[in-house]
Amino acid sequence: MNFRTLKDADVASKRVLVRVDLNVPMQDGKVSDTTRIDRIIPTINKLRERGAKVILLAHFGRPKGEIQAEFSLEQIVPALAHAVKHHVAFAKDCIGDAAAAAVNAMNDGDVLLLENTRFHKGEEKNDADFVKALAANGDIYVNDAFSAAHRAHASTEGLAHILPAYAGLTMEAELTALEKGLGQPVRPVIAIVGGAKVSTKIDLLSNLVEKVDALVIGGGMANTFLAAQGHDVGKSLCEHDLADTARAIMAKAESANCAIILPVDAVVAWHFAADAPHQTYGVDAIPHDGMMLDVGPLSVDRINAAISDASTLVWNGPLGAFELHPFDAATVSAAKHAAERTKQGKLVSVAGGGDTVAALNHAKVSDDFSYISTAGGAFLEWMEGKPLPGVDVLKNH
Ligand code: ADP
Ligand code: MG
Repeated sequence: MNFRTLKDADVASKRVLVRVDLNVPMQDGKVSDTTRIDRIIPTINKLRERGAKVILLAHFGRPKGEIQAEFSLEQIVPALAHAVKHHVAFAKDCIGDAAAAAVNAMNDGDVLLLENTRFHKGEEKNDADFVKALAANGDIYVNDAFSAAHRAHASTEGLAHILPAYAGLTMEAELTALEKGLGQPVRPVIAIVGGAKVSTKIDLLSNLVEKVDALVIGGGMANTFLAAQGHDVGKSLCEHDLADTARAIMAKAESANCAIILPVDAVVAWHFAADAPHQTYGVDAIPHDGMMLDVGPLSVDRINAAISDASTLVWNGPLGAFELHPFDAATVSAAKHAAERTKQGKLVSVAGGGDTVAALNHAKVSDDFSYISTAGGAFLEWMEGKPLPGVDVLKNH
């Protein structure tokens, strides 16, 4: 993928509008997890070192085009200043006089945060006048918010049409990792898809079977596939109305030469609770009153063997109800195996998704995967093969 990066940009003494992700969790008025702030620091530092005036643009929550104090970015300033190790100025509006005055007061190397872009309706509408009003305060646009790149909003897409536009360092790292996952991957490529429901991941499954050599289906969604093949899944989570969809995905996989790896055994419990009494059964012998809460040990052996055969792994969705001990066993085993192969230099491993990130943290492998995306929706749309407007505008044509 050929996109413009900071290397290509002349930023000295320039006003650089940087779109960042500051959608951080808050508790009692304080930032409770600084992961997203930490990720934008390399770009801010690089721009400061090179003498730019760094003007940060971001949204926070869903104020729906209205000014609402609870969604003010001002409350993020202390945590941001702490991470940047420099004063961070704040402007009470992202356009107009307040923004212009704050920008005019900047020296080279200064950092300014502008108020929530979503306080204006023009942001989500990608309104041309709003884009112009934002652009009035910048000479250059840098996008470092991959997590917002699936939206064609004024600050994520519109600005790139009227200012010289570049990917920030974190965006660059994410795009490079994703390119290794599905863009130009080293084959064979294996995908693991798990999680609760097929209904939320039809597009994702459908795209993957065309791109990967093997697809492991686990978690609750495996039950829908097993039921579609005629297995009795008892009281397991299962979308019986999606049997045709499941069969269509399996047929598509077959014509695309993608091997589908479904569980052959499962850990069954009678309550959805941690440490509930449980027993392993083959998928042909699931008790009528039981629920499959994890894929079984034989299945894990097969999944780990398939990971060993692969050079690239793309993973979204846990293999079982990993929040509940011991139904985390399959997810943890496969995660540790993939981490080990990655450390040995034999596997490129890319993962993402809200619960997937939590599951991989739980397995303590987060530092050993090649890349774990915290981007949520944008990561899933990438796995679905959909265009990401915020990324497409950064490409060289
Ligand atoms: P992500 O957020 O990474 O995209 P999902 O939201 O699709 O992942 O799926 C995660 C959820 O799937 C978890 O809450 C997990 O408990 C649930 N899950 C996984 N396997 C099962 C299962 N066999 N039965 C019920 N729920 C399951
Ligand atoms: Mg989820």
